[in-house]
Amino acid sequence: MRWSKTYIPTLRQNQSDAELISHQLLLRGGYIRKLASGVYLYLPLMQRVISKFSQIVREEMNRAGALEVTMSVLCPAELWQRTGRYISAGKEQMRMKDRHDHEMVLCGTHEESVTSLISGEVKSYRQLPLNLYQIQVKFRDEIRPRFGLMRGREFIMKDAYTFDADEESFARSYQAMVDAYFAIFKRAGLDVIKVESDTGTMGGKAAHEFMFLVDTNAGEETIMISDDGSYAANAEKAEFRDLADVQIDAELQDMETVDTPGAATIEEVTAFLKVDATRLVKTLLYMADDKPMAAMVRGDRDVNEIKLKNALGCVDLEMATPEQILRYTGAPVGFTGPVGLEDMTIIVDPLVGELRNFVVGANENEKHILNTNVHRDFKPSQVTDITLAVEGDGSPVGNGRLLAKSGIEVGNTFMLGTKYSEALGATFLDASGEEKPIIMGSYGVGITRTPQAVLEKYHDDKGIIWPVSMAPYLVALIPLNMEKEEHVTVAEKTYAALRETGIEVLYDDRTERAGVKFNDADLVGLPIRITIGDKSLKEGCVELKARSEPGVELIPADDIIPAVEKMAQRLKQQ
Ligand code: ATP
Ligand code: MG
Repeated sequence: MRWSKTYIPTLRQNQSDAELISHQLLLRGGYIRKLASGVYLYLPLMQRVISKFSQIVREEMNRAGALEVTMSVLCPAELWQRTGRYISAGKEQMRMKDRHDHEMVLCGTHEESVTSLISGEVKSYRQLPLNLYQIQVKFRDEIRPRFGLMRGREFIMKDAYTFDADEESFARSYQAMVDAYFAIFKRAGLDVIKVESDTGTMGGKAAHEFMFLVDTNAGEETIMISDDGSYAANAEKAEFRDLADVQIDAELQDMETVDTPGAATIEEVTAFLKVDATRLVKTLLYMADDKPMAAMVRGDRDVNEIKLKNALGCVDLEMATPEQILRYTGAPVGFTGPVGLEDMTIIVDPLVGELRNFVVGANENEKHILNTNVHRDFKPSQVTDITLAVEGDGSPVGNGRLLAKSGIEVGNTFMLGTKYSEALGATFLDASGEEKPIIMGSYGVGITRTPQAVLEKYHDDKGIIWPVSMAPYLVALIPLNMEKEEHVTVAEKTYAALRETGIEVLYDDRTERAGVKFNDADLVGLPIRITIGDKSLKEGCVELKARSEPGVELIPADDIIPAVEKMAQRLKQQ
């Protein structure tokens, strides 16, 4: 491709609306432009990167036996109503009515569509297992679209769906996708780790996420990893072993309400009462689907709202406002306690459940209650883990300690069980003629997020450094002066030779100054640069340089093709 014939609007200046280096580079390199919040247009270079990555994904999915289909973005709301996700998808789902007043949604994921596709058509165990995938636009009205393609509202995803007759077969299908994912991300240049994750509104039994660990602010996810390598989970889901030195009294004492003037926070109350934070219990008021509820964790810990949401089975969960706290407990913030809140759901963490004679708010201004005990003084609705794991906690398996890392989720895999097949009647007859719901799995890869994640790693202060596998073109061909006939002659000849060999080349045929061309080439980040200038031409040579390396080789102009091929091979191994 000739630069003069394509469209690469590079930008000299950093853009004020891009926090991440990867987002900055995509804007400045002329890869993407924003149309609206979370809505991006992919320019010719980005389109090629998307094609490259899609092709990697396709090859690995096909190798695993998956079949490519394309499902519509538009879907009748009725299917989502049948699975219950019309409600649970909440505001993330874009909804509309068509001209006939039918309610429709824009799919953010395609479990409903794909299950309805096979429901009634796949009837026998002989037609299973089946794996259908697509590479398609998704729409999610994300609450905080940000970071460019990392969290868009419209984005491209590869989503695959497996259908199996029994658990053993499903385990093989799931493992095949896990293996394909490791292969995909490796080819894209990313080392990823697989972590346990929350199933969220997807439902089902268990899930994993594929995380690319970063130490920049691009890592939206916190991952807890055991220092002995035996456990890795998203912090949303992470379990832990409590290592705090907690004193548990032998005898239950009588409750006693005490004044705690000016002491509302944990620090203030522990200082005032001269007790350890582990003897204090935080009672936090939340609004769960607009109903008040209380969550209790030990004073030295915090609530994991995802765990809490799962325990409640609610769609919306928000901290109560100070006004709501006053209305439902009768006291201002800082003095909430479980005693007397019997009308509402009270969820108690097991670390609280094992305590005796602890301190809680008295639901009266500037008062706390000493020697409170679960069951005796209030009835918990549920005792279940709602505590956030933190760095330094014990790993739930083995003897290690948890470390907190940040990562970008580039893919995930869900064990869906029969949630969708039951809701949408996707059943089959097994070998003995018994009708059963199909066991399903669902598997996503961010087709637009992943290339941007790649850039968090592959860049320097001048611009992008694409790995060969993801680059929009392999070679940047740069004659330094288009006004010099000799430069043009060698450039045209080299361009033709590269194209004939099937090497993808971007030929900078603009009459720009050499400095401008070099800057643009560094920004755009193609893996290999060929430069044609007076100095090397004097010796009958052109310059060959890897974008990732400082050195320059002089290659006789006629031998450039094998030299490029050799360099490409070497770069691919890195
Ligand atoms: P996240 O936790 O980041 O919101 P998710 O759990 O909602 O992701 P899935 O629904 O499983 O993600 O989607 C599969 C893949 O699609 C993700 O692993 C990610 O790579 C990509 N993806 C999800 N949401 C977005 C988005 N808003 N913009 C770009 N890519 C996305
Ligand atoms: Mg999401």
